[in-house]
Amino acid sequence: MPTETVVPFTAGDGFRCNLIHVQGERPPTKGPVLLVHGAGVRANIFRARVQVTLVDFLTGQGYDVWLENWRASIDLPPNRWTLDQAAVFDHPAAVQKVLSQTRAPEVKAVIHCQGSTSFMMSAAAGLLPQVKTVVTNAVSLHPVVPRVSRIKSAVAVPLVSTLTTFLNPQWGLHAEGAVPKLIKALVELTHHECDNPVCKQASFTYGTGFPTLWRHENLNAETHEWIKREFAHVPMRFFQQMARCLRKGHLVSVESFRELPADFVAQPPRTDARFAFLAGECNVCFLPESQQRTYDFFQQQRKDYHSLRVLPGYGHLDVFIGKDAARDVFPIILEELDRSR
Ligand SMILES: [Zn+2]
Repeated sequence: MPTETVVPFTAGDGFRCNLIHVQGERPPTKGPVLLVHGAGVRANIFRARVQVTLVDFLTGQGYDVWLENWRASIDLPPNRWTLDQAAVFDHPAAVQKVLSQTRAPEVKAVIHCQGSTSFMMSAAAGLLPQVKTVVTNAVSLHPVVPRVSRIKSAVAVPLVSTLTTFLNPQWGLHAEGAVPKLIKALVELTHHECDNPVCKQASFTYGTGFPTLWRHENLNAETHEWIKREFAHVPMRFFQQMARCLRKGHLVSVESFRELPADFVAQPPRTDARFAFLAGECNVCFLPESQQRTYDFFQQQRKDYHSLRVLPGYGHLDVFIGKDAARDVFPIILEELDRSR
């Protein structure tokens, strides 16, 4: 049986995060790989109710797997995080912790959605020099969403921000207070794609799809049920930052930290890592064009070094939690991680 150890680390501003270190039956034969989750979930998102998770797959292939619970994790106290905070305070500290625990000279990373945007900000700002290979899913430096999501972001984010500081897909199960009850009712009225209230709330929270974050046909019944416990609080402050990024067409910083550029594509990225950009062909949360644009940007910096892999039949998170992801996606991730530099 694989064993797991929780390794706490302190982010640059003192916020307490942790890493889950998963070890397979045999000692690792390859270096450490860091898995970084998205917004309003937790490190556990990489361990869905499927026969072989990405964690099983990578440990089975000899990797030393570390799951990062950064400040957007629902395992940590709710806080009004921004991508800037994660980029400056969390990811560099997580990488340092993995390096010191493993004594490895470098770290590889698999990063998803807002774990990806914030990690890319950190890498582009030169804060992750020991990260040499990155597999990113869904979105990196150029968030592109469907037109209707863009309008929703521009109109609803300022409005909802006056009513609440957090959204929470758990409201589908328990809504206490006027705003949670209102949003729950709105979602029940408009979403009829399945009978899982958290699945529907997550679709409303993260876009305009039915559903937004996966294709139902790619999930098994156990995983569809499991997601009920895997989605919770996410601050409006993050959605405000993303609304600004969507207006600009690329990531921008909002905190004026001296470590970060104001605009992440105005200068060459300060990283020599190799990037593999994954995009679900059917992703309606962030369109595949998101990854295409960042791939093109990195192509300009160094031609024929990075790669773009469009995954037919896949959406957003089903890339990791889909019932057939071990067959369709994980070998691609492995190939990209294994590629020699
Ligand atoms: Zn559903």
